[in-house]
Amino acid sequence: MNSATTAQQLCVSVYGLLLLLLAFLFLSTTAAAQARRVVLVKVDGLSPDMIERFIDERDPRTGRSRLPWFKHIFYERGTRVENFYVRGMSLSGPSWSMLDTGQHLQIKGNIEFDRYTLHSYDYLNFIPFWLGHAGRVRVDMPGPETLDELGLPLLCDTYPYEQRHLSFQLYQRGTRWTTLQRGLQNRFTSRSPRELFDEWLLGFESRSIVLEQLERELLAKLGDPRLRYLDFYTADFDHATHHNRDRATHLAALQELDSLLGRIWTRIRESGTAAETALVVVSDHGTNTDERLYSQGYNLVKLLASADGGGHHVITKRRLLSDYALKSIYPLVPLITTTSDDSFYLHGESTVYPTALVDFDGNERASIHLRDSDLNILHLLLRELRRDELPAPVRRAAMAAFFATIERRHAEWQESLATLREELGALHRRIDQQRAIVAAQPKQWTKVDSDAGHDQAARRETARLDSWQTDARKYEDYARTLGNLLGLRPDNFDPSKLHIPDVIASGAMGEHNSIRQLQNYTIGLAAGGLALDADTSLDWSRSFRRLNYPRLLLDLAVRNNVQPNVGSRPVDFIAVRVPAELIRNADAEGNRVDEAVWLYGGDEKQALVLGRRDRDGKLLLRYLPVAHLTQSESGLIQFKAADWVAGLPLKIWEDRRLVVPAGAERREEWLGRWHTDLDWLRAAHLTEYSNAVVGLHEQFARHSTPATALDVPGLAADERLMRRFRRRQRSLVETDMLVLANNHWNFDVSGFNPGGNHGSFFRISTHSTLMFAGGEQTGVPRALLITEPYDSLSFVPTILALTNQLAHDAGNRLTPISISPRLPAAFPGRVIEELLPLNRRDQAPPAVIIGPTAATTGGVR
Ligand SMILES: [Zn+2]
Repeated sequence: MNSATTAQQLCVSVYGLLLLLLAFLFLSTTAAAQARRVVLVKVDGLSPDMIERFIDERDPRTGRSRLPWFKHIFYERGTRVENFYVRGMSLSGPSWSMLDTGQHLQIKGNIEFDRYTLHSYDYLNFIPFWLGHAGRVRVDMPGPETLDELGLPLLCDTYPYEQRHLSFQLYQRGTRWTTLQRGLQNRFTSRSPRELFDEWLLGFESRSIVLEQLERELLAKLGDPRLRYLDFYTADFDHATHHNRDRATHLAALQELDSLLGRIWTRIRESGTAAETALVVVSDHGTNTDERLYSQGYNLVKLLASADGGGHHVITKRRLLSDYALKSIYPLVPLITTTSDDSFYLHGESTVYPTALVDFDGNERASIHLRDSDLNILHLLLRELRRDELPAPVRRAAMAAFFATIERRHAEWQESLATLREELGALHRRIDQQRAIVAAQPKQWTKVDSDAGHDQAARRETARLDSWQTDARKYEDYARTLGNLLGLRPDNFDPSKLHIPDVIASGAMGEHNSIRQLQNYTIGLAAGGLALDADTSLDWSRSFRRLNYPRLLLDLAVRNNVQPNVGSRPVDFIAVRVPAELIRNADAEGNRVDEAVWLYGGDEKQALVLGRRDRDGKLLLRYLPVAHLTQSESGLIQFKAADWVAGLPLKIWEDRRLVVPAGAERREEWLGRWHTDLDWLRAAHLTEYSNAVVGLHEQFARHSTPATALDVPGLAADERLMRRFRRRQRSLVETDMLVLANNHWNFDVSGFNPGGNHGSFFRISTHSTLMFAGGEQTGVPRALLITEPYDSLSFVPTILALTNQLAHDAGNRLTPISISPRLPAAFPGRVIEELLPLNRRDQAPPAVIIGPTAATTGGVR
């Protein structure tokens, strides 16, 4: 090797080194402006207003804030989002589903019932999950299972398994703790369900043991630099506010949380990763509580079971006369039946023929399914036709009415049956494929495999197979019965030989009730029995006992009102989804409406919340005051246009905190137009019902997902059928009526509720906490208060932007720079841009370059 080449080589390598160094410095600059690690503290029900109440109070003992860590971490060194709201009902199950996915709402209650099969999705119930987990049947809570089926990943899924540490939560994705897992498995498998239930219900101590262990594990894991996503969920604050409304209890619950945050913050600083770690506190809703008042309970289950309420046998998922939320979950009994003593025709048949399903979770709202009113008519007529003593003319009229009723619904039911059968065909083919997938899984797993989560991924496939097989069996039962009903013919019809459950499915609600049915709901035979009109056919109006449910519920009133500051009427308004095809003409300007919700606050006090997409796909919403909305026999929705007046549902027009944009004319003119969801949020978020217009649309609209979208070119036939099947399953859990409580009322069946509640669209319940703090490399601004309003959909994209998984492209739009193939391509929500460091996109790299040493040793100050 001669000297020239050596010099040349040396020159090249020095040059190369310089280039490398430059590239390295540049990379570390860009990499520096981000949080490499995120720690989420998820606090159920944490109201920001309650933190505000105590933050500036001095503790006489210390001379510092009563909430010193909140003050230090988030008020002095972090960023707070002052106006952060649930986009939808202020209810844990739905709200966490949006916070955990960043996608539109799919899970619409804490409990959902399938109308065809009574299958219940119990999103809050940990106990079957634990037993399933211990028995190696289940891996995930029901929430992630449902979201997986819809193709919606959780935020934690964007991190590789070995980079995340998850606590115990509603949207639990597997488990990977060791000590706790063993402890809990022993606890759960060594006890009978009954003992387990008592312990879960009463065992505050066992819950705090679990929480303490979870905290210990989190603090230990904070020392592991490979972990980039860590979360901690606690429901203790929510429990405390449900049970107590006094200041001292609220303060004590907040102080416990405050010191937890202090321990986490201190541990982060000790861990050597403080500079690149962001600590985030988020809550799923607030809480409606007032020291001077207790929330009054109204028992809707008892009402529906009474003669005045329809004499229904009622199914719930929570035990009655027990208490709230997570603690009162009955562990294993799938459904709880309240038998009506006043049933008009199903006496003694409560287990076979329940006709109402109620989810009262969240308490400030309840959701009700009623059996298709026409199934009640058929059932009543069948029972009459089976009576030997029925006079011949009445028998003839009843027969004709029976077949006329089937005929009236024939096209719809036949279509429903035919499409369901197609979908079940596809489901069976999928089951066969899934069986092969499961059979091919290894039976033994190495430690390396389980450290990478492969064993849990395999078990997830088994759980999926199990769930599909159960679905197939239950829907087939329903389809067979509906097929039998549609196959009945007048010429060979012998009701006495008929077994009623063969033609009217037991434990099924059938199709949704129309508004016409809800306003004329058949609950039994009239007192005089079947009546004939002059031409000897059945007199429909005199033969049956009917109820107008929206009116019945709204007019409920209690006589002895014990609290002068609480009204005597439990119900604020009722919300019902209206199929958009029946209401295409609702917009006077001729815009095509995609979604509609009817709000009933009395015959004169009603509204339609209408939704549509503009040419660019942007969501537009309109609130249309109406009166006397009815539905004709042909299905047509009719209503009178009404003026903006005080007392309409959501009370927007009279609310002084409504802010119409500067330059806008009178408020009714602004209110009378279509606006984007963002415009609605900005205008209304400070009003009593905050973002209810947006929230109602979110709650009732059917949102497409990656696994349910049908307008995708090139879908294989079976995939298309499976997508249709999943859409059907989501629509089958939609209830007939959402009942919203008046202020300081609740539908908790224990009847007396000493603390606060949530579930409604009231601002006090939807107003949630969102706070950030982090080391200097995270770029989280210090002592910043963001006043721009945001909702649940902003949470995930903001965390992704903060951790550099979304970045600005050349057009200054945030797009995924994916570290995970599971990251969805798009998020409907806005990133909270105020939080992101300005230098990330607008400024040149900072003059002082933070090298790798600082990044790994941490900038503890
Ligand atoms: Zn909650």
